[in-house]
Amino acid sequence: MPLSRWSSRHKKTFNKKKKEKWDGNFRLPPKPDSYYTQTKGSCRWCGTTILNEDDTINTRKTWHEDCATEYLLIYHSGEQRAQLWNRDKGKCNHCGCENRTWHADHIKPLVEQKHVKEEDLDWSYYSLDNLQTLCKSCHRKKTNSEVKLKGKKKPIYKKWSK
Ligand SMILES: [Zn+2]
Ligand SMILES: [Zn+2]
Repeated sequence: MPLSRWSSRHKKTFNKKKKEKWDGNFRLPPKPDSYYTQTKGSCRWCGTTILNEDDTINTRKTWHEDCATEYLLIYHSGEQRAQLWNRDKGKCNHCGCENRTWHADHIKPLVEQKHVKEEDLDWSYYSLDNLQTLCKSCHRKKTNSEVKLKGKKKPIYKKWSK
């Protein structure tokens, strides 16, 4: 179940019937074909049927709850923060401090998906499992080490995962 409300910006995309060509922005990966079909009872994210509890097709819905959550986590930064807060309550995953100004960080940096072809995208990069709460100072240190390691092929996140 998504924690945030659909933003008006996302509501607008409901009317877009055609799949746009992906602009290559690795922060906003391309949406699946099913996203652009609006058959009621069929999920716009995973493309499969939405069933009622009695296994009949739910013809009022166009999203599974879980799929809406997954979708919003990627395309809606408000949902991303809400999910992270819900899980971590603002506690830094690196030093354990609790601070009101916390940052959402991708453990495996999204930038590693840059220049990856659409069909080769690794969706695990966009999951909640790949997100962590970091305090401002730990986030800065991590970002700095990522910049330093740029160009080297070594995966950066190893150093940071526990
Ligand atoms: Zn679905
Ligand atoms: Zn910290």
